[in-house]
Amino acid sequence: MFHSSTIQLSKSALQSNYNYIKNIIGKDVDISCVVKGNAYGHGIESFIDVAEMCGINHFSVYSSDEAYRIWLHNSTNSEIMIMGWIDEPEIEWAIENEIQFYVFNRERLEAAIKYSKKVSKPAIIHLEVETGMNRVGINKKEINNICQTIIDNRESLIIDGICTHYAGAESIANYVRIHNQNKQFKDFVKLMSAKNIIANRYHTASSAATISYPKMRNDFVRIGILMYGFWPSPETFIDHMTKHKLHLDPLKRIISWKSKLMSKKSVKRGQFVGYGNQFQAQRDMIVGVVPVGYSHGFARSLSNSGHVLIKGQWANVLGSVNMNLIIVGITDIPEAEIGDEVVLIGEQGERVITVHSFTEMTEHINYELLTRLPDNLPRVIVE
Ligand SMILES: *Cc1c(COP(=O)(O)O)cnc(C)c1O
Repeated sequence: MFHSSTIQLSKSALQSNYNYIKNIIGKDVDISCVVKGNAYGHGIESFIDVAEMCGINHFSVYSSDEAYRIWLHNSTNSEIMIMGWIDEPEIEWAIENEIQFYVFNRERLEAAIKYSKKVSKPAIIHLEVETGMNRVGINKKEINNICQTIIDNRESLIIDGICTHYAGAESIANYVRIHNQNKQFKDFVKLMSAKNIIANRYHTASSAATISYPKMRNDFVRIGILMYGFWPSPETFIDHMTKHKLHLDPLKRIISWKSKLMSKKSVKRGQFVGYGNQFQAQRDMIVGVVPVGYSHGFARSLSNSGHVLIKGQWANVLGSVNMNLIIVGITDIPEAEIGDEVVLIGEQGERVITVHSFTEMTEHINYELLTRLPDNLPRVIVE
């Protein structure tokens, strides 16, 4: 392998998560799998490949560059939806290639109509309405106007969705705000229905709302983090486990991250290891080098505190995380040999390093740690 580490994606884990989520939401609710942030760091192209093998056929991204990567890579018929950024000239490309995109203001609506006329094909749009997050979305006071423009340009637009996003469904502290948002959303839907603007689907729920607010699933949900086997928050996890009387986490992690032991040497008691004086050997030791550092997404904050698995045993990070490598203690793993598999995230033997434990060590939330895994690490699909 040319690269110093590899990310593996488990097909059986994704299949299991997908089946589990489908089972919870029932057959009347469809799923879009959210793959923004390089598929939460899993690697967008490889992840889409596995996801399609598992039967997933609708993907949501944040921006047009992500949609473009899928489009370049993908020869199948999955639907792609852009929930955020797309520059005006790219709207033409999106329409031509039947890529769905959010319309959240008049400018975007007019651009959709303009380019639809230019390429003689309707734009497939999702109208995003402002319900209280105050981020993006069509406001109540402009809705009549927007509706009129839609009515005047029926042939240019397919209203595939009407949607909104909740401001923090993963925390009970936001309960009242979420309910208000849902009420606002229903008002919008009523208003638009009265003008005969009916969407193919209505969607508001991400992972957290899908789990904690079943009534807000409508007929379509946008699932990100759960699909990858993580929970939006400890609260969502506990809520689900309690409601379903579960004892074991039903989700499986898809990702593992592996490297190899690059070198091995002994160090005398009292000597310092690595840069500066961050680690001093308290006894005669054997240390190993793993060719993964902060430039590969192994956080510097794991200096002197992270660990990896070698031969099914814990090996601690000694001293600081370097740009391209870490030094680990293998004194108590005498059987460790150069070339042995090193697990940075995932299972080995009886032990496991979860992203969660990794994030606890580094104080990053799952979402952030995952998306920090660099694009240029190779991804491979495993069973
Ligand atoms: C990221 C995102 C989601 C998915 O969120 P998860 O918590 O990962 O399920 C859904 N909808 C929108 C608009 C998003 O930006």
